[in-house]
Amino acid sequence: FDALEREDPEIAEVVVGELERLRGGLQLIASENLTSPAVLAVLGSTLTNKYAEGYPGRRYYGGCAEVDRAEQLGIERAQDLFGAAHANLQPHSGASANLAAFAALVQPGDTVLAMGLPHGGHLTHGSKANFSGKWFHTVGYSVRRDTELIDYDEVRDLARAHQPKMIICGATAYPRLIDFAAFREIADEVGAYLLVDAAHFIGLVAGRAVPSPVPFADVVTCTTHKVLRGPRGGMILCREELAQRIDKAVFPFTQGGPMMHAIAAKAVALREAALPEFQTYARQVVTNSQALAAGLTAEGMRAVSGGTDTHLALVDLRDTGVSGRDAEARCELARITLNKNAVPYDPEPPAVASGIRVGSPCVTTQGMREGQMRRIAGLIAAAVTTDPATAGGAVRLRDLGDEVADLVGEFPAYPETGG
Ligand code: PLP
Repeated sequence: FDALEREDPEIAEVVVGELERLRGGLQLIASENLTSPAVLAVLGSTLTNKYAEGYPGRRYYGGCAEVDRAEQLGIERAQDLFGAAHANLQPHSGASANLAAFAALVQPGDTVLAMGLPHGGHLTHGSKANFSGKWFHTVGYSVRRDTELIDYDEVRDLARAHQPKMIICGATAYPRLIDFAAFREIADEVGAYLLVDAAHFIGLVAGRAVPSPVPFADVVTCTTHKVLRGPRGGMILCREELAQRIDKAVFPFTQGGPMMHAIAAKAVALREAALPEFQTYARQVVTNSQALAAGLTAEGMRAVSGGTDTHLALVDLRDTGVSGRDAEARCELARITLNKNAVPYDPEPPAVASGIRVGSPCVTTQGMREGQMRRIAGLIAAAVTTDPATAGGAVRLRDLGDEVADLVGEFPAYPETGG
């Protein structure tokens, strides 16, 4: 860091500013986490320099002995941790992992059945603004209006009617467990591949806090930077018969040189995730998001589907009369970082949205527990219902920000990193 400060003080200032932001506020974005210093160390290492197109032992460049060891270790750790026959650690991101999975399993023009975006699906599951919706015929399933849970009868009916080549489950904003066995059964009935996009919850699977999709899916794609707490990146797990197709779909079909610093950092994170402490962490992540959902419910904010089984809660703000967009902005003024989110059957456009999504991975990494979640729920409710445009509103939000700073001051992010 000294070298950065000497050479580029402007960017050094950004790095320090971001650390201060992390330390000065509450990080409740469900898809974020705070990686370990060991993961950060590998990311900032000379491994970033190495070209290593290909796979361990089969590279198109010389000098790969060291990075081969890192990637091989990472692959083996992923196989062991998830009981997967094959692992590919090269996808640059979750979206890249999904692009490769599509490339391996389906042809442009094929029909794919996935959760609709307004119901919690991801852009790569069929949005018209994304390759998935542009190059494939995607059909969306939804959640039931009454329970806000996946409607497996509808999934089955749509599968029968549209005969998809691939069915996707796994979402961006679905707080409940997914019945992978039911999806497997439906996929088998219509002869479709089952792709589980476990980006959000793979860390909970690693920590044995939720059931694993690996025994049910043909392919599991995921990110490594959410609950799993690794570097920003993607990963694919699959059955042995699909290993070659997946590897070729990642390189050379959709990617070039792998990011060896990120792959080595994924290996470090996978080792950390196999430790008993990580299981304690993963369980606490779920306990904390349940406490947060219960606390917000007590404050008059409705948790979609009545609660959560995972690391996130989706909160419907319509009873408060405040939009998701305004809630996000008000919370930001009170040093609480979260995101607006559509709720099922949302009458508002996505840029406004009627809800917020709150996640517990970061605050749990910082050591917070149920007591802190109850305080956080109170702080969120106070911030959401304070309009900065009204008399005293801005001051009230600043005061709430001071309360937030006091709370997080007891649980600093990166305590081992000085200044
Ligand atoms: N799949 C799901 C379900 C996600 O929630 C996300 C990101 O949040 C992705 C894929 C894409 O991951 P990335 O942002 O790394 O491309």
